[in-house]
Amino acid sequence: MDRQQAGAILKKLKLKITPKRLEIMCCLAVEPSYLSADDVWQRLKLQFSRIGLPTVYRILDELAEASVITRIFMSDRKQYYYLCTNQEHHHHFVCESCRRVQDVERCGVDTLTRELARRSGARITSHILQINGVCGSCNSAQGASA
Ligand SMILES: [Zn+2]
Ligand SMILES: [Zn+2]
Ligand SMILES: [Zn+2]
Repeated sequence: MDRQQAGAILKKLKLKITPKRLEIMCCLAVEPSYLSADDVWQRLKLQFSRIGLPTVYRILDELAEASVITRIFMSDRKQYYYLCTNQEHHHHFVCESCRRVQDVERCGVDTLTRELARRSGARITSHILQINGVCGSCNSAQGASA
């Protein structure tokens, strides 16, 4: 993803286009994996030498709120972020071994939420699903070395 593509996404979502937002999106987009706010900060400092970590957190949160980027949840309770160019509703599989993130095209949760709404009368507004595990290539590599 280049700045133009990042700008187009922000424009489509009616978000303000700023150089820092674009830079954060581009630096997340080149990674096949997720990054912590600290990782993003280290990369952004090359471009914006005076940028502080709180600013990076604020922009990451704004982008996550707007669903431009996805929060990745890990057991260390640190915040992680991943940028996926797939704008359709979908979920992610996160490899615990190589940290790669893969798209899970099928949702499957909508059946569950419909059932829940029907039974409890609740109004479901959104859902979060992240699947963790060991990816195919890590799994076969581990199998070979065992
Ligand atoms: Zn893997
Ligand atoms: Zn995705
Ligand atoms: Zn879903």
